[in-house]
Amino acid sequence: MDNNCIFCKIIKKELESKIIYEDQNVISFLDINPHTIAHTVVIPKKHYSTILDLSNDDILQLFSGLQKVVDLIKKTINPDGFNIGINHGRVAGQVIDHLHIHVLPRFFNDGGGSIHSIIFNKPKESLDEIYEKIKKYGNRS
Ligand SMILES: [Zn+2]
Repeated sequence: MDNNCIFCKIIKKELESKIIYEDQNVISFLDINPHTIAHTVVIPKKHYSTILDLSNDDILQLFSGLQKVVDLIKKTINPDGFNIGINHGRVAGQVIDHLHIHVLPRFFNDGGGSIHSIIFNKPKESLDEIYEKIKKYGNRS
């Protein structure tokens, strides 16, 4: 818990929120500035800033909660699809320093784009150069 974190305050019920799902490890509530109907955030109850801070168990619990939230919204709001994503770091738009997954219900002809529409910063390096840079630290030879 981080005493200055508004999401930790929501978890502790010190701040009001529209909680739609909660279990032992995960809580989910409606975004207060929705970009679409039932725009929701799913968060771990432990205060983590980034996905790099989570254990394997934490990730399993978070994605299990995420799946339940998506199922709940599908059954109640019945969108045609979803964008599911994380603003990871300030540069990517993360405003609250408590890892959160956005769930954005989508409808045909709603005017939105895919996750690819977030950034058009084409790399100068070739795909081979980028691949060589990364793969030596990966688990493939
Ligand atoms: Zn927090």
